[in-house]
Amino acid sequence: MRKALVAGNWKMHGRIEQNKLLLDGLLTQLSGLPEADIDVVICPPLVYLAQIEALIKGSSVALGSQDVSRFSSDGAHTGESSAEMLADLGVRYVIVGHSERRSEHDETDDQVATKVVNALALELTPIVCVGETLEQREADQVADVISRQLKGAISSLRRSEAERLVIAYEPVWAIGTGKTATPEQAQEVHAFIRQYLTSVFDEELSQGVTLLYGGSVNSTNAAVLFEQVDIDGGLIGGASLKSDEFTAICRAAA
Ligand code: PEP
Repeated sequence: MRKALVAGNWKMHGRIEQNKLLLDGLLTQLSGLPEADIDVVICPPLVYLAQIEALIKGSSVALGSQDVSRFSSDGAHTGESSAEMLADLGVRYVIVGHSERRSEHDETDDQVATKVVNALALELTPIVCVGETLEQREADQVADVISRQLKGAISSLRRSEAERLVIAYEPVWAIGTGKTATPEQAQEVHAFIRQYLTSVFDEELSQGVTLLYGGSVNSTNAAVLFEQVDIDGGLIGGASLKSDEFTAICRAAA
């Protein structure tokens, strides 16, 4: 039985006061959720990780980072934060290969693979994002794109590493657009990801890996998406900035 997981990706949003209000609301509203049924992760901007770490202390909410450096050793890498630094701050999850990093920072599958390895080496759980653009979907290339991204990012991992992954299917055309994949479209790709994992590793591993859907999830569409057999929760952008919306999404997953 896979445990549900909902991760909030705040992207480049937040201010010290605003974060405190959001977290206060969230922790109060989430307090009734059974910890045994769901893991909840908050991924604020890097500069607020320490603030959020202090605010969630003692709660069941875990801290996540929106990225990790591809460099693993301290050195002359201006602007970078290593997996070791994130772990030092209490981070437990790392989003890797988000489509905004791939498009705005030209992040390649090879770089995503290196970040996954760096995160795993520090016992951080990578949330590896894959997803096709609208153009690729319309050209019937979804399976090709997803398998290329997965091959690039995870196929060289050892089984014992791969079983610690979380994979998020995030169709690029659904991120921040208000256009959600239908439950059938999302389920089809999640089932494809499990088949891929079976082909590279094995069925037991494939059935154990947590798969998330991301792309304009909100309190109205969450339940029907999370009902799908291969969808274990969500990676939530915009709706994670409102405590009542995010809590409702967590409830739908639990
Ligand atoms: C995301 O940032 O990963 C995301 C899915 O954003 P949104 O929920 O706003 O579409």
